[in-house]
Amino acid sequence: MPRPEDNSGDLPLPPVPVLGMSLENILRSMRVRRALEQKRLAEMFARWGAFPGCYQIPCAVCDTPFYSSTPLAKYCSYRCQTQAYVARRKARREAARQKQCTRCGNDFTATQRHAKFCSNACRQASYREGVAKKCHNQEP
Ligand SMILES: [Zn+2]
Ligand SMILES: [Zn+2]
Repeated sequence: MPRPEDNSGDLPLPPVPVLGMSLENILRSMRVRRALEQKRLAEMFARWGAFPGCYQIPCAVCDTPFYSSTPLAKYCSYRCQTQAYVARRKARREAARQKQCTRCGNDFTATQRHAKFCSNACRQASYREGVAKKCHNQEP
């Protein structure tokens, strides 16, 4: 099966973003580079199928197939990449909010990061128990 070895016939990629460009221009340049890269890989994939340096991968977020030079790529676009990052961060925060009450041992979802008790009742009971223990310790 033939393999592409000479890329001279492909569209040249625009230059890598350099210092001094505005953020908008850098982003536009990155988008253009990515779009051209997609086009180039799509043409190669259509001709030769997957091979080292050209893979078709379904996006982990939106399931749209896209092309990558590495089989490890996961997302079709910066937008999906950001969305996946936001989802991961949200899941991590939600997991951190799942706690166990230090008094009754019940699982609960904390609204405060440092919450220790499942309810006001447990918090107050724990406080009362602490006060009672202190009084007890002070007894002769
Ligand atoms: Zn996507
Ligand atoms: Zn509790």
